[in-house]
Amino acid sequence: MGEKGKDPVCGREVDKEGAIGSSEYRGNIFYFCSLGCKIEFDRAPAEYICQGKEGENGNYV
Ligand SMILES: [Zn+2]
Repeated sequence: MGEKGKDPVCGREVDKEGAIGSSEYRGNIFYFCSLGCKIEFDRAPAEYICQGKEGENGNYV
């Protein structure tokens, strides 16, 4: 069973082993469902990290 991570860009759950890409930001590793999400994140990581805030559903298309 693989560990799950959350794609911070689209909010999807991503299997860490099967993730297309990952990025490190402030000591945390983030996993992405697609290269597009990784590129978006790398462009502006701070926009996708809401520290101390969970459970909000941003529906990104
Ligand atoms: Zn994604």
